[in-house]
Amino acid sequence: MLSLRNTIQLAEESGQAVGHFNVSDLVLLKAVFISARDLNTPVLVGVSEGEREFIGVQQIAVLVRSLREQFGFPIFLNADHTHSLSNAEAAANAGFDSVVFDLSALPLEQNVRETKRAVELLKGINPEILIEGEIGDIGTGSEIHEESAASPGQLTSPEEARQYVAATGVDVLAPAVGNRHGMVQSMVNGESHKHLDVGRIAQIKRATGIPLTLHGGSGTADEDLRRAITAGISIVHINTELRVAWRKGMESGLREFPHEVAPYKILPVAVDSVAKVVRARLELLNRGQ
Ligand SMILES: [Zn+2]
Repeated sequence: MLSLRNTIQLAEESGQAVGHFNVSDLVLLKAVFISARDLNTPVLVGVSEGEREFIGVQQIAVLVRSLREQFGFPIFLNADHTHSLSNAEAAANAGFDSVVFDLSALPLEQNVRETKRAVELLKGINPEILIEGEIGDIGTGSEIHEESAASPGQLTSPEEARQYVAATGVDVLAPAVGNRHGMVQSMVNGESHKHLDVGRIAQIKRATGIPLTLHGGSGTADEDLRRAITAGISIVHINTELRVAWRKGMESGLREFPHEVAPYKILPVAVDSVAKVVRARLELLNRGQ
């Protein structure tokens, strides 16, 4: 079985990126798994601190591991946006494959110092675990925001990225390159898209030499995503688009079966709705050069 590190490397060599999809229930997990399995492509499942609190750190670890073992399928688990060392350690102890240790809201010096310490401690729990660090401002909340929240925050400079990676020893870097968490309503409607600073991605890739993650991938123009992968993005996070599909699917399921109370008869409608989005995104990320 491939490791997550090898999976990322193989994707990079073939001009592809690994899809990272957030889940907070079994509907989303099923949708991600069946889509990836249909396309026979490795996939990364993510849980933020809020999503972890709902589904359970140990429980999601067991669920993902059971899919990996029963089907011999490369599905991996990431502790997305982890803001404290204790939560990062809980994820490492539960068997997560990677942790996004996110102190990007702190002053850079403190971010560097504490991330370096986290890398050492987490590798002590599991030497294979991948640690992703974050610098720059990519906003918070994979939700539908006001239109005014659409403008990108402070972008990551290539030199800062180089110094940060060298000083902390992170395996993966999440830069701010025009991406932003969440979507605005016009993006949900398909009337507007996020645009990325592809030149900056290439510069940061050259400066750091490690895999880069694009957070806030929802609502990004397809062409920008493809160019970003060519420039050096190896992991793409999609969350808000799945949440929108989840909600629409739940509403359709309830409308379709107005008198039904058995969840397993209603929820497949939501699984299908989310799976369509996952599949489309995976096909785009896998297109290769
Ligand atoms: Zn993110």
